[in-house]
Amino acid sequence: MEKKYDVIIAGLGPAGTVALWHLAKQGFRVAAFDWRKEETLWGKPCGDALGAHHPREAGLPDPPLSTIKNTVKAIDIYAPGEEVRYRVFGEGYIIDRNAFGKWLLGEALRHSNVEVFLGAKVLEPLILDGRVVGVKVRISDRVEEYYANVVVEATGFSRAIRNKLPRHWPIYEPIDPKDTNIAYREIIEYEDYEIEEPNVIRIYLDQEIAPGGYWWYFPESRRGVNVGLGVQGGMGYPNPMQIYHEKLLKHPLLSKSHKTVTAAGAPLPTRRPSNTLVGPGIVVIGDAGYTVNPVHGGGMGYGFRAAYYAAKAIEQAHDKNDFTEKGLWSLNIDYMRGLGAKQAALDIFRRFLQRLSNDEIRYGMEKKLIPEQDVLYTSSSGEINISVIEKAKIVLRGLRRPGLLAKLKIVAEYMKKAKNAYLEYPEDPSKLPQWVNGVEQLFSEFEAKIAEKG
Ligand SMILES: Cc1cc2nc3c(=O)[nH]c(=O)nc-3n(C[C@H](O)[C@H](O)[C@H](O)COP(=O)(O)OP(=O)(O)OC[C@H]3O[C@@H](n4cnc5c(N)ncnc54)[C@H](O)[C@@H]3O)c2cc1C
Repeated sequence: MEKKYDVIIAGLGPAGTVALWHLAKQGFRVAAFDWRKEETLWGKPCGDALGAHHPREAGLPDPPLSTIKNTVKAIDIYAPGEEVRYRVFGEGYIIDRNAFGKWLLGEALRHSNVEVFLGAKVLEPLILDGRVVGVKVRISDRVEEYYANVVVEATGFSRAIRNKLPRHWPIYEPIDPKDTNIAYREIIEYEDYEIEEPNVIRIYLDQEIAPGGYWWYFPESRRGVNVGLGVQGGMGYPNPMQIYHEKLLKHPLLSKSHKTVTAAGAPLPTRRPSNTLVGPGIVVIGDAGYTVNPVHGGGMGYGFRAAYYAAKAIEQAHDKNDFTEKGLWSLNIDYMRGLGAKQAALDIFRRFLQRLSNDEIRYGMEKKLIPEQDVLYTSSSGEINISVIEKAKIVLRGLRRPGLLAKLKIVAEYMKKAKNAYLEYPEDPSKLPQWVNGVEQLFSEFEAKIAEKG
């Protein structure tokens, strides 16, 4: 008998589970697959930090206390050398990913229209007459075919389905390794040390320890910490696990006696979102769609939001009985205009940050070129306040750093251009190629201009 559903979800990490929760509630007949078992659901290694606004903005209920390890009140950002520190206030959580995943899955399973297959590996998409019509799955030793009007690709960085789509489809868009971070983290438990200010998470900028990324120290209790680092991919930098053991363990915070509870690493995308999150009969969300914040690498909240928009787009497509690229296009409009525009601007900022030396970062923070109170504005809007540039002009001219000023001006200009390009994301798929050309040109122009300034 043919196994036919309204929607198939491949991958039940943060993005896929949120999509499942919404689609289940909307009454769709859904089949969802993940190769993990329930005990390791959402088991990808992570810093586990989540802004409190993210669940709400993705239409989810507030997470129950049992899914939260710690609450966060502020983030401290340290310049190289650690003499200069910014404190940025904001509410958040350190979540227990497995508990969060199980809770949300349990909520989705209250609806009888949902079937979940764990320990099930999605092997490839099924394509017929130029559109995705289902997936091939291995469950135990059986290989089976499942069919649906729409497949949700949420298999994370592995992109198990997307990587097997025809190469000429715009949704098949491989990632440049330089647009990735390779991250490694340990969860440690101190033997006899209590963390000061356990509700403040810390980010350390240091190109020698974490080139093209940062290292973090996120307390999950008075004695437990999630600590790790991410380095830019494709640059030939040493692997982060090696750096952790050779350099980070010498830091005063980590040389105190502790035991490692768990340790693991994984890659993540750190670029603007995919040019399109939609193909015929398929949508892509979360890490598989490159929806991570390019600057800080947080991807859970953005995966949640992409999933929320995907569920809305699927509902609209269902009402029109149109599961083509055009029929699902509203996901692109909602995501690109709602979040992608900011992320495209932050992709410009990320490229700038990755080129800075330790001396320039320290200097910029010490002189408050982007002041503490503007960090939140820049990260949530994707813009550098114009008054910041005006102030930087005075500071940098006085201190004879014209190179840094010139770069900052280019960055602010291109952040604005990138944001505007995404705000003008095409209304329908026919204009996509032209738009992609424009965006690629803009990013190449930025790279050339910033390289010119050294
Ligand atoms: C070390 C590290 C630290 C991070 N820290 C943070 C942080 O503090 N805050 C934050 O918000 N983000 C953080 N991120 C990013 C965050 O972890 C991801 O953005 C997020 O997990 C993406 O969710 P997802 O559902 O798209 O993908 P994933 O979490 O990767 O989930 C994908 C799911 O698909 C399943 N799957 C894959 N292939 C198949 C297949 N063939 N068949 C069946 N199932 C399959 C996997 O088992 C998995 O369950 C960090 C990432 C790393 C690597």
